Amino acid sequence: MKPVDIIVIGAGIAGSSCALQLARLGHRTVLLDRQEFPRHKTCGEFMSPETKEMLKVLGVDLLKEGIVPAMMDRAVIILPHGGEIEAPLPGEAVGISRYELDRILHQKAQAAGAEIVTKTMVTGIRKTDDHLYEVETRQNGRRVRYQARAVVGAYGTKKPRDMARFAEETRDETVYIGVKSHFTGIHVPSRVELYFCPGGYIGISPIEEGKANVAALLTLDSVQGNGKSVPEILQTAAQTNFRLAERLTAGNPVPGSQVSMAPVHLSDLPEPWSEFPHIGDAMLMIPPLCGDGMSIALRSSLLCSGWTDQYLKGELRYDQWRTGYTGEANQEFTALLKRARRIQSLAFARTNRLYPGLARVFPGLAKYVVKATRLSETGMTR
Ligand SMILES: Cc1cc2nc3c(=O)[nH]c(=O)nc-3n(C[C@H](O)[C@H](O)[C@H](O)COP(=O)(O)OP(=O)(O)OC[C@H]3O[C@@H](n4cnc5c(N)ncnc54)[C@H](O)[C@@H]3O)c2cc1C
Repeated sequence: MKPVDIIVIGAGIAGSSCALQLARLGHRTVLLDRQEFPRHKTCGEFMSPETKEMLKVLGVDLLKEGIVPAMMDRAVIILPHGGEIEAPLPGEAVGISRYELDRILHQKAQAAGAEIVTKTMVTGIRKTDDHLYEVETRQNGRRVRYQARAVVGAYGTKKPRDMARFAEETRDETVYIGVKSHFTGIHVPSRVELYFCPGGYIGISPIEEGKANVAALLTLDSVQGNGKSVPEILQTAAQTNFRLAERLTAGNPVPGSQVSMAPVHLSDLPEPWSEFPHIGDAMLMIPPLCGDGMSIALRSSLLCSGWTDQYLKGELRYDQWRTGYTGEANQEFTALLKRARRIQSLAFARTNRLYPGLARVFPGLAKYVVKATRLSETGMTR
């Protein structure tokens, strides 16, 4: 069994940024992921102004990495009948593919000394009586075990098989599917476009190299029986929003960039701990409509790295590590999640039944959507 200080499970934005920080602080860090990188990820790729700030804290400057991201300063909601509501963003947002962003974070984590092991599925995690963790993995058909002083769960929405028994009822029952594809030929001005349709919404935002990212969150019910491929799902959604249909017709899907994830359940409550800390989507799946998932992933990783560093240095006991991180995460994210859930249900309930009157009834909706869930305006300072 290989002994290490810390195992981070999941090398998405939350896990790789956490591994980066803990490796920088001098801990022997191993980052595990079942996928091979770089890879496309189901995501709107809209990076809120807070996300940019947190990347700066991590020492990541996209321009210095040779990436010229797209910039956005407005959000527009486009209703099925073609009407739109536009509002300025509270700060400049950035469009960058997860293919590039996660690749850059991996490079930084490796440079800081983290070992990244991909194509490795974590199948079990056991905590021993003396607070050590035994992590069991499958790597190329082989069973490989690690012993770690601490574990961080950054495995996204799907718990490793062995962890399901610790699952608490913190998720909504509605089942969604998320899909995404990059396109060329769709020119998006410096704004994020949100197209509403029965059962969900589709976001279009500009990313690097003049490409556009098209990502959708739809209820599983609304897509069933309409074909299973990403282009089929997007085309079906476009049948109920003619301006989306026009947008998609103008573009060409970038081969290999289509991905989907299902089932997606939104969280009712954050779940910062079960035997070890959780960060990112493993802690909290927020409605993507508000474009806050990545900033929560980074924010929770910053919090968790701080508490875990103190624990590994022997400055905190196990129960202080657990209650400290749990308390801070609940304080930071509970109110934010509630607000985002309210916006999500408003968008679904009102838009899908009353769309002709939406702009009149909720003239400030676009502004509300983009402002009300920003960390800096809600959770970070209050
Ligand atoms: C449709 C949609 C649109 C979105 N749009 C936006 C947006 O525009 N802006 C925004 O900020 N957020 C958006 N989000 C949310 C954002 O994508 C997530 O919040 C963010 O990706 C969370 O990062 P993460 O690192 O926690 O999880 P992930 O990026 O999902 O990483 C988890 C990693 O864990 C690995 N893993 C899982 N299980 C195991 C295992 N057993 N063993 C080993 N590895 C494992 C996976 O392979 C994966 O690489 C959107 C989400 C959806 C679904």
